[in-house]
Amino acid sequence: MKIIMLGAPGAGKGTQAKMIAEKYSIPHISTGDIFRANIKNGTELGKKAKTFIDAGQLVPDELVVDLVIDRFKEDDCKNGYVLDGFPRTIPQAEALDNALKAIGDKVDFAIDVEVPDENIVRRMGGRRACVGCGATYHVVYNPTKEEGTCDTCGGELIVRDDDKPETVLSRLEVYHNQTQPLIDYYKEQGILKSVDGTVDMKDVFKAIVEILGA
Ligand code: ADP
Ligand code: AMP
Repeated sequence: MKIIMLGAPGAGKGTQAKMIAEKYSIPHISTGDIFRANIKNGTELGKKAKTFIDAGQLVPDELVVDLVIDRFKEDDCKNGYVLDGFPRTIPQAEALDNALKAIGDKVDFAIDVEVPDENIVRRMGGRRACVGCGATYHVVYNPTKEEGTCDTCGGELIVRDDDKPETVLSRLEVYHNQTQPLIDYYKEQGILKSVDGTVDMKDVFKAIVEILGA
């Protein structure tokens, strides 16, 4: 099963993608996580991506597309994957379609997690990320057992640089201009499914499982 998660930054794509990956035994491929790991490890890609990420802008398509398509060649992708944060532009979506078409394949579902902008700003303000394993929490909606410490690996929790209020506003603008058009793109392909992302994360997941099948 090949799934794309759509939605504004902070809509809950990563939270849901993680649960989907676990239930359906497919890898969760997050381009944001890949970039953050590269920044942490000081790679050339990380250095190039950091300038765009810190400014709340998208990393150029040519730095993203091959990275994702190459990831599909790994063994764990043979039964599909859930893509989180990719595609984010129409050219990225077209590149994905072409790469899949070349091997007689296609995306099965594009799931749009719908959350209004007002809620997004609140969510991003409370998001905390683990510096060790990248796990994501929320100070109110999904707190850790011990404040400031990751439940999974015991790592330190931080506010992502691009979750600062001024950057969140540019990210939302970028989302509306460059990523939202993907909703119509996948609607036209007949694979778009929308879920209400404002309810509790377990209920969002229930709605997604109804779409994907148990
Ligand atoms: P995205 O991957 O779309 O950027 P995340 O999954 O990181 O978003 O979620 C953004 C923030 O909102 C996180 O702090 C997460 O814990 C929280 N969150 C996710 N889903 C919900 C929900 N349904 N209700 C409340 N908070 C949520
Ligand atoms: P995310 O963790 O998905 O919110 O991504 C964090 C940041 O990484 C984004 O704001 C972009 O700057 C960059 N990024 C992640 N995925 C992509 C993508 N598919 N295309 C361009 N930039 C991306």
